[in-house]
Amino acid sequence: MSERRTTIFEHMSGLARAHDAVNLGQGFPDFGWPEDVVEWAAEALRTGSNQYPPMRGLPALREAVAEHYGRHQKLRAAPDEVTVTSGATEALAATILALVKPGDEVLLFQPLYDAYLPLVQRAGGVAKLARLAPPDWRLTAEVIEQGFTERTRAVVFNNPHNPTGRAFDEEELALLADACIRHDAVAISDEVWEHVLFDGRRHIPLSALPGMVERTVKIGSAGKIFSLTGWKVGWTIAPAPLSEAIADAHQFLTFTTAPNLQAAVAYGLAKDDAYFEGMRADFARSRDHLAAGLRDAGFAVLPAEGTYFLAVDLAASGIALDDVTFCERAVREAGVAAIPVSALYAQDAARNVIRLCFAKRAETLEAGIERLREAR
Ligand code: PMP
Ligand code: GLN
Repeated sequence: MSERRTTIFEHMSGLARAHDAVNLGQGFPDFGWPEDVVEWAAEALRTGSNQYPPMRGLPALREAVAEHYGRHQKLRAAPDEVTVTSGATEALAATILALVKPGDEVLLFQPLYDAYLPLVQRAGGVAKLARLAPPDWRLTAEVIEQGFTERTRAVVFNNPHNPTGRAFDEEELALLADACIRHDAVAISDEVWEHVLFDGRRHIPLSALPGMVERTVKIGSAGKIFSLTGWKVGWTIAPAPLSEAIADAHQFLTFTTAPNLQAAVAYGLAKDDAYFEGMRADFARSRDHLAAGLRDAGFAVLPAEGTYFLAVDLAASGIALDDVTFCERAVREAGVAAIPVSALYAQDAARNVIRLCFAKRAETLEAGIERLREAR
């Protein structure tokens, strides 16, 4: 992961374009979005302000974020505790730059979303890596304690988890919360997939666990809530002292983000439950479609509890290739792009798992399944 200069997502999407491949690699939907949210943004572009909004975000969006989490997750955040950023990526950058000082240790769980490690390193932090292992990727007390020391300043945690599709349960979250409290560490909780959960699961924010709200930075993104990944509107929610530090970093990273998009996201966050339930049902159908097609083609599909992704165990599918070789061949020779999960480990990688994005139209999924069948 550390030797590659370009992220695996850009690398694979570039190869997919070059080889006219079906792209089940990078996580973005190839179907529509809520028209009313886009219309709101268009109207705001024509009639709203096109000048700098306030540095911490449009008041309407900060209020909408606080209200949204009160309604969906029973969190009691105040608008003042919300900082609007240019996507979750900037939220991560601002938070890590704000809280991690040179020499501070930061615990990361592998496989990890690709931005975490470079951001910790750029802040001068020392990454400590714990390792989740396939096929169940379970967060146990042993895994959690792998990286904690007396110098641990923060933990970057992602739930629901990209790339594994895990939604960590209450027992796993309680173990992590207990460790953060015992080691007096801040939790940077990347919850961008919070609404994309299946089979009746409900998202449990880490900050809802006893003793955690005062030490958690919760990160969200409109990209995943509205299938508008290019919009790059995200936010942090954190108690006042942490929010102050985050805003301090944010003001010199991007200062602010497009006001029209912020206004449309504020509108969208107030949508009724039917929208969120409909979205989950649509993605669950796509997940089931891809999983059934892959099983029929002889692939061993691991359970996907949330996110746009499912993982396939190549070894258990009877494929002797490592994940990188399989993915490089699949995109060049069979015309289908996937993500090799070893690219999301910095050490001791699992080399037998690939990640596929199912947030696609039925035709795209069908074409992807046929090409993966050929890639075996
Ligand atoms: N964190 C995780 C776990 C993600 O999966 C993503 C994007 N897929 C991001 C952060 C980045 O989100 P954004 O596009 O809002 O920057
Ligand atoms: N988060 C997306 C994914 O996991 C990709 C985002 C990106 O390309 N930086 O596929």
